[in-house]
Amino acid sequence: MTKTIQPAASHHVGGAPLEDTAGAEMPVIHPADGRVIATLHAATPAVIDRALESARAAQADWAARSGTERGRVLRRAADIMRDRNRALSEIETLDTGKPLQETLVADATSGADALEYFGGLAASLAGQHIPLGGGDWAYTVREPLGVCAGIGAWNYPTQIACWKAAPALACGNAMVFKPSEETPLSALEVAAILTEAGAPPGLFNVVQGAGEVGHALATDPRVAKVSLTGSVPTGRKVYAAAAEGLKHVTMELGGKSPLIVFDDAEIEDAVGGAILGNFYSTGQICSNGTRVFLHRAIRDRFLERLCARLEGVRTGDPLDESVNYGPMISARQLEIVQGYIAKGLEEGARLVTGGRRLQREGFWLEPTVFADVADDMTIAREEIFGPVMSVLDFDDEEEVVARANATAYGLSAGVFTRDMTRAHRVIGRLEAGTCYVNSYNDAPVEMPFGGVKASGVGRENGTAAIEHYSQLKSVYVRMGRVEAPY
Ligand code: NDP
Repeated sequence: MTKTIQPAASHHVGGAPLEDTAGAEMPVIHPADGRVIATLHAATPAVIDRALESARAAQADWAARSGTERGRVLRRAADIMRDRNRALSEIETLDTGKPLQETLVADATSGADALEYFGGLAASLAGQHIPLGGGDWAYTVREPLGVCAGIGAWNYPTQIACWKAAPALACGNAMVFKPSEETPLSALEVAAILTEAGAPPGLFNVVQGAGEVGHALATDPRVAKVSLTGSVPTGRKVYAAAAEGLKHVTMELGGKSPLIVFDDAEIEDAVGGAILGNFYSTGQICSNGTRVFLHRAIRDRFLERLCARLEGVRTGDPLDESVNYGPMISARQLEIVQGYIAKGLEEGARLVTGGRRLQREGFWLEPTVFADVADDMTIAREEIFGPVMSVLDFDDEEEVVARANATAYGLSAGVFTRDMTRAHRVIGRLEAGTCYVNSYNDAPVEMPFGGVKASGVGRENGTAAIEHYSQLKSVYVRMGRVEAPY
């Protein structure tokens, strides 16, 4: 029997739960069995307006506080999140279907890291003193942007809410956040925790709904910045809408990242990296290394070890901590991924393992590996966003770098080799924003994360994120007289 969760209300606005049943009904489905676990309502224009007004009202007072005080609130929120990690992880598991084994270590904990890290930075955000000729000088002030809109994807709902809220709030902004309609629950928990930690009412608001609610935020004149995590097609729309109002943006979009394994690589580590980079979170991770380029000399050994290790996949109730592999997020996403598997077969790729839907309730799909994949096949070109690995063979470094870069995307890239000179030489030539040497998909908050080319604009995490949630005011100070021609 699936647990049900009924949050206090659909939205969190002005520091409290807010309901408006006039909004369209949004059933929340547990992906492991397809049952409804909660029913929420999409935000009406009145709810969106109230959220933006309360954000605007809260922002000025928040920005006037010292960085130390702002940071204290964020760090307190981080502590509360860690204390409640198990309860928050269970909600995330029910909402996303990801195994509790994963959510216990990768979701609320990662959100708490972001709150702690940016909470720690808040007190040291400062401008510069710039000495000039003739005794004059200038200074810069690092100012917040105002009200920011955050729009999230469904794969890491808590993490995405915190990766956006933490730097935004640290810099003195307020935020209105719209989670994906597939996973609306955990952002409400994040909002309640921030309020409990002392954030002023209205500083971080959550409004539910589909794309049109996101669009309303991205086009509202009260919003100074839009930060989206989503697909490239949505990114294009949201970026264009924000451009119309000349708003700042951060775009964390999709990818089709290369993971290159040279013939001198430690094979078990490379197989481990490929498993993490293709099947963790059932393959629903933007930075996944879904084009696995294997040096021809080690291809068969790699595939043999990969298949052996995939025997370790355990499906079942995701709340059971021995389960290590979950369902897809939705029937629709399952269907999209099945369509790609059919395309792979049709275009001549060799199915090594998997490919079938599991015959049970919910949206389960086997981990799937295709070998003999050619660069021009659909499964090697398009983002699948599911548990499908494409294995491509290569013979030399020059060739693999060119093929790895032959994509419109540029989110991530990984290289497995024992030759460190080669590792850094190859990474230096790969067109990707977030790279890994002998590892894959690590995302510590200290390290900037983001893409190049079609995979995005801007960076989340690290001190780099501060640049994207603040702006500089430059002030020239003349110490002498003003000389004018007339
Ligand atoms: P979508 O692009 O479908 O949606 C992302 C968010 O944008 C959702 O909240 C969605 O609302 C909203 N949205 C949709 N249309 C509009 C619009 N016109 N204006 C404003 N907002 C809109 O992505 P998914 O949720 O399907 O997530 C999967 C995608 O996200 C993948 O491509 C993946 O690669 C990418 N992703 C990128 C990450 C990164 O950091 N680079 C991390 C995680 C995922 P709704 O869906 O509720 O209708």
